[in-house]
Amino acid sequence: MRFATLAVHAAHDIDPTTGAIAPPLHLSTTYARDAELRLVGEHQYIREGNPTQSQLERALAPLESGEAALVLSSGMAAAAAVLQSLEPGAHVVLPDDAYYHMRAIAHDFLPRWGMRASIVDMADLGALRAALTPQTRLVWLESPSNPLLKVVDLVGAIAAARAAGALTAVDNTFATPALQRPLELGADVVLHSTTKYLGGHSDVQGGALVFRRRDGLTERVAEVRQVLGGVSSPFNSWLVLRGIRTLACRVEAQSRSALAVARALESHPAIAAVHYPGLEGHPNHEVARRQMSAFGAMMSLRIQDGEAAAKRAVGRLRLFTRATSLGGVESLVEHRRTSEGAHGTAPPELIRLSIGLEHPDDLIADLEQALSV
Ligand SMILES: *Cc1c(COP(=O)(O)O)cnc(C)c1O
Repeated sequence: MRFATLAVHAAHDIDPTTGAIAPPLHLSTTYARDAELRLVGEHQYIREGNPTQSQLERALAPLESGEAALVLSSGMAAAAAVLQSLEPGAHVVLPDDAYYHMRAIAHDFLPRWGMRASIVDMADLGALRAALTPQTRLVWLESPSNPLLKVVDLVGAIAAARAAGALTAVDNTFATPALQRPLELGADVVLHSTTKYLGGHSDVQGGALVFRRRDGLTERVAEVRQVLGGVSSPFNSWLVLRGIRTLACRVEAQSRSALAVARALESHPAIAAVHYPGLEGHPNHEVARRQMSAFGAMMSLRIQDGEAAAKRAVGRLRLFTRATSLGGVESLVEHRRTSEGAHGTAPPELIRLSIGLEHPDDLIADLEQALSV
């Protein structure tokens, strides 16, 4: 079945008691037992699981070609749950260009949990191989990466990790399963901030993990979620379930527009570089072509005249909303260093764009007026 069809039909159950097409929203925190003390249904208590969350998990697993999925309260709760499922003494390798708070986890939290982290440029497989040790339990990958849109050769990185006996986790938030399915390339677990494209409307926070196999890793992460409590609310699961029904067409249209915007800006005199994997000049364009069906709707621009000019251009945009985050129907722009705060590593002249569902001609016109001095 093609992805677009799967996105509409995965776990699209008709409610047997009412015939409702839209999924019921179960807000109950607790579930009854019968006179013999047997649970009436499959659920007992909301922190352990609830029907709306289970329905979302049954929808997510096939979208990423996995055997099991776990939904959590945010992308960071999902990332933390994977790391907290490892033992003290474990060594984790993380990418140098990664979601900002992953670096905070590496620096501030892994040592507290008795783990060690190495940060490497994952676009350089030699650097990854050199960082692997007999204690390495997990290699964390993000492709395309935030905010530099680096592309990692997932097949190569997964093979290197496997040869060293380490698991691989791939943050697939930017690409979404509509464009890239890391589990099919051999990764063990995929992470989504469902706050972004899977929710798709800038109105829900959530995280999800999809596992290639339902095995010990799935069980350990499920235990972390159940005991430490990073569970999602039923309404948030319901909103993400609603969002994924239109994922394929949203991401397809947004990717098409992003390519048009990137091409229009590529040779603009005010711009020093456009970081977008769909441009032939991107250093890993060929790898992106191999592992993605389109190049996504995130890009970063480096402004020729530096930080002040970058901030000025952001201030002059009219159609793009100045806000962090991504993946909604409306286009967003941010001066990334401003959003990252004191410990940010984004280049000061970098602007990050999340391309929405507006017509690309209008977006290009807005960018051109903002960049003209
Ligand atoms: C937003 C984001 C996260 C964190 O997700 P939250 O839902 O905000 O916790 C992780 N990875 C990437 C690539 C993101 O964009």
